[in-house]
Amino acid sequence: MTVATTPDLSLEALWMPFTANKAFKHEPRLLVSAEGMHYTDALGRRILDGTAGLWCVNAGHARAPIVQAIRDAALRLDFAPSFQMGHPSSFQLAARLAELLPGDLDHVFFTNSGSEAVDTALKIALAHFQARGEPRRARFVGRQRGYHGVGFGGISVGGIESNRKAFTAQLLPLVDHLPHTHDLAHNAFTRGLPAWGAHLADDLERIVAERGGDTIAAVIVEPVAGSTGVLLPPQGYLARLRALCDQHGILLIFDEVITGFGRLGGGFAAQVFDVQPDMITFAKGVTNGAVPMGGVAVRHGIYESVVGRAGAGVEFFHGYTYSGHPLAAAAGLATLDLYRHDGLFERAADLAGYWEQAVHSLRGLPHVIDLRNTGLIGAIELEPRAGAPGARGYELFVDCFKRGALVRVTGDTIALSPPLIIERSQIDELFDVLRAGLTALA
Ligand code: PLP
Repeated sequence: MTVATTPDLSLEALWMPFTANKAFKHEPRLLVSAEGMHYTDALGRRILDGTAGLWCVNAGHARAPIVQAIRDAALRLDFAPSFQMGHPSSFQLAARLAELLPGDLDHVFFTNSGSEAVDTALKIALAHFQARGEPRRARFVGRQRGYHGVGFGGISVGGIESNRKAFTAQLLPLVDHLPHTHDLAHNAFTRGLPAWGAHLADDLERIVAERGGDTIAAVIVEPVAGSTGVLLPPQGYLARLRALCDQHGILLIFDEVITGFGRLGGGFAAQVFDVQPDMITFAKGVTNGAVPMGGVAVRHGIYESVVGRAGAGVEFFHGYTYSGHPLAAAAGLATLDLYRHDGLFERAADLAGYWEQAVHSLRGLPHVIDLRNTGLIGAIELEPRAGAPGARGYELFVDCFKRGALVRVTGDTIALSPPLIIERSQIDELFDVLRAGLTALA
């Protein structure tokens, strides 16, 4: 298969991540450039971005201040070692993030991805309790259908069967899972957070009773689970989880890789939902997706126990060659400036009502069994085709792309998370494409 703008391109050598490689290479969807709300594909068509790339590009594509900052950084300092050495912009970015983060989350450890952020947060939890003389606290609690990236830590606390099944021989051994919060019988077609389900947090009591509260180091959840099709936290659920963690001395980690940086109409989900976690993992939107970067923000006391109270020498035996890379740090600083300058978090909050109307305007169309929304996130859940789960969702995703809109498919759910710069008319356009695609779907 050749493509118009790149006729000599061979697709064979690349093993693509989380992709049906053979199907893709048979009928590729190649993006060759991007600007603002649009991609351009290899056939020269403009594609409206309904997913901010992959939940990353919150400020829209190819924003000049970010591009310029990366260019300047590359010319000034291409690389600096991250162990026992430093460079100014990673410190500046950590300080800026600390201002943005809720409560006393005032120290930041940089990684290169969300997966690394999650594994780092789990290690910090263990190091914290070691340092406090509570080494018995070594268990983790994740949640069914949770996604925390693809490291062994992340897939162990994560709850997506397909991501675990080839690797079950070597998952982390001391992990339990809470039930997920998705329940169509009670909550289908809810606008915003569902009213039913806060009690699902109480399942932590079952795990505590079984394992002993003093053996659990941390609970990790996504405030809004994205990768299994946008699963919303029932009203009061996260606060209940927080209260139970407090009661048993367990750390609460919010994985905010997709919910951070304005997606819900505020800096982080922790602020929007008014629940203070002990750690936040982030990635994606921190650099607007322009340079890979992730990180873990920790509360003051955690940094104090692991670093502050330690003796001389390296306090935490963990880190990455590219932690706080100069290009990523520069992109991060420019991104935070742009979010503030353009008021994008507030913009997302302002648009959320219009967005909700648009999402729920699809009610009644063929195969639609649920519509969900919060902030600038939406989901369309389709009735699976008998004997072929996921087929209908995939077909709708491909059809939307052909009609000029990028949406995201997970199973039979279409997830939507546009850049926060989206205009009302572009929301209309996105949902017109979805409406046409749904109407045509077998
Ligand atoms: N955690 C959450 C909640 C995510 O949604 C993702 C990716 O989508 C990750 C972790 C992993 O991030 P990455 O793909 O950067 O490793």
